[in-house]
Amino acid sequence: MAVTTTPTEATLRRAAELAVDWLSRAPELPVGRPIDLTALRAALGGPLPDEPMDPERVVDELARAAEPGLVVTPGPRYFGFVIGGAMPAPLAADWLTSAWDQNAGLHVISPAAAVAEEVAADWLVELFGLPAGTSVGFTTGATMASFTAIAAGRHALLARQGWDVERNGLFGAPEIPVVVGDEAHVTIHVSLQMLGLGRERVIRIPTDEQGRMRPDALATALRDLDRPALVCAQAGNVNTGAFDPLPAIVDAVRANGGWLHVDGAFGLWAAVSPELRARVAGSELADSWTTDAHKWLNVPYDSGLVFVADAPAHHAAMTLGAAYYVETAGGERDPYNWVPESSRRARGFPVYAALRSLGRRGLADLVERCAGLARRFADGLRAEPGIAVLNDVVLNQVLVRFAAPGDAELATDERTRSVIAAIQRDGTLWAGGTTWHGMAALRLSVSNWSTTEADVDRSVETIIRLAHEAGVRG
Ligand SMILES: *Cc1c(COP(=O)(O)O)cnc(C)c1O
Repeated sequence: MAVTTTPTEATLRRAAELAVDWLSRAPELPVGRPIDLTALRAALGGPLPDEPMDPERVVDELARAAEPGLVVTPGPRYFGFVIGGAMPAPLAADWLTSAWDQNAGLHVISPAAAVAEEVAADWLVELFGLPAGTSVGFTTGATMASFTAIAAGRHALLARQGWDVERNGLFGAPEIPVVVGDEAHVTIHVSLQMLGLGRERVIRIPTDEQGRMRPDALATALRDLDRPALVCAQAGNVNTGAFDPLPAIVDAVRANGGWLHVDGAFGLWAAVSPELRARVAGSELADSWTTDAHKWLNVPYDSGLVFVADAPAHHAAMTLGAAYYVETAGGERDPYNWVPESSRRARGFPVYAALRSLGRRGLADLVERCAGLARRFADGLRAEPGIAVLNDVVLNQVLVRFAAPGDAELATDERTRSVIAAIQRDGTLWAGGTTWHGMAALRLSVSNWSTTEADVDRSVETIIRLAHEAGVRG
């Protein structure tokens, strides 16, 4: 009997085979291999073809051409930036999301996409301990989440002064003072830049030795203002993982009558862990929050989350409000009202699948396991003469510096950079460099669901071996 296979079926099966093949080899591939850029461009490039190509062959050739330029970020020994992997359930749900090709802008175009978001949103509000009635938007990432939250804050602060910013813009509006910690993530400044508030038109509050906003300095700055401010605090410093002291910050912002936004792109996930929850105590009293699902929740890109306690302000800042969008009578939630986009991917499905597969306990385990592995990293490295851990390891971030006897600060910077370069050439693990309070440092971030103690031990051994080769000694 002849078996007929449609081009769609053949192509999807081939893609699944290729994906499974790469993912099964990924843990033992060099993590961030040096690439030959000319060869990669040649493999993917060439003139725009005139003629069609069979879809299965397109997928085959794409996989073959792309592989030398793929970084094994979903693998267990990628410790660069703050990058999660993709767990099986959200990855598979992401494939279905593409296959279903739903437009998640409006309930009427995809009731399933809208309701999956609604359910995941309720679960998340509960997990983070946010106020009942908090509204949620599913964005591309933390950048657009902060953009959305700050737009809601801009709306609320100006509406209280009788100014409709969505209608009339900012020309002629009352001024909004914007206050940020000196180590606010660059994407806070980018959000301010896009919202007409100015990336440099900010009052910067000094930070302490762990990178936390100093609450005394914030209180003083806010007392000097004659109007409510928009204040951006941080849960999880991108270098140290440190948390701004939120209870004191909340008090200062309340006294000023301002709006408090918390950027918790990865750090907000501490709230789901009984062991780590105390670090974000007070966060539930803020006005808006940013986090990423594509980092610590280990959902594929792109997946950010914005939460706003004042749902009407969130809605007013984001709704398209165009006449041809029919307002629903049955209480359905239209996802477009809570994010900058109209038509978009149904990114609620993978988030839903991640939460469903982990459950409350699995999620707490994931976060606590990564934090424990970060401490294991720090303990293994700081035991070695010549290697220093610069930060208090309170979450999943570790900053490391390398010295030989007699190295002055500049020589230590150079030696640290040479160890980082050696790690990146070696390929056992990948981690990047940063500059921390004027010092060069290796930055390790443990955020991947599949990282084990053995991966950390193997990475520690590799780092120590490469450090010795670079002259690091006690
Ligand atoms: C990663 C990160 C961001 C930006 O997130 P994207 O998802 O890349 O837009 C913002 N703030 C902090 C603290 C981060 O770690």
